[in-house]
Amino acid sequence: MLKIFWPPNNYEIREDAWGSGRFGSPRTKTSPDGTVIHYPHEGLDLVFEPGQAAIGPITGKGRWVWVYEKDSYSGLEVTDGSLIVKLLYILPAPQFRNKRAAVEAGKGIGIVQDISKKFKGMTPHIHLEARIHPSKTLPEMLKLYPKGIPINPEILL
Ligand SMILES: [Zn+2]
Repeated sequence: MLKIFWPPNNYEIREDAWGSGRFGSPRTKTSPDGTVIHYPHEGLDLVFEPGQAAIGPITGKGRWVWVYEKDSYSGLEVTDGSLIVKLLYILPAPQFRNKRAAVEAGKGIGIVQDISKKFKGMTPHIHLEARIHPSKTLPEMLKLYPKGIPINPEILL
């Protein structure tokens, strides 16, 4: 059974003026031509204090990712060949800058950023996303989900 290492076990899911942090919650965005697009939230938003340590969710290789084009919010994408786990709104540790580096489940990988500075009234949190690795994905599913099938991280905690 696939598992994500996650302390503490009694996690809290974000619920605030911006919506619910549950997997599958409705989200909208506006495309450049003004069309409103509805889509499901593909992660789970777990409440954290800014400055808290972020912990490696699985043992594998970690890669630094940016969340938005024009600011400093970042995250770490960790792969073990079966799962791809992405943690957003964390500042990864320096070893991840410009190269992939080893991640160990349960060991520190960075610190939690303060997303409430960008979105007033939003509870600071880590966005946790999990996908089944594309190589483990049935070909017909791969057409729908080229980056792997998103799954609810809650079933892995
Ligand atoms: Zn989220």
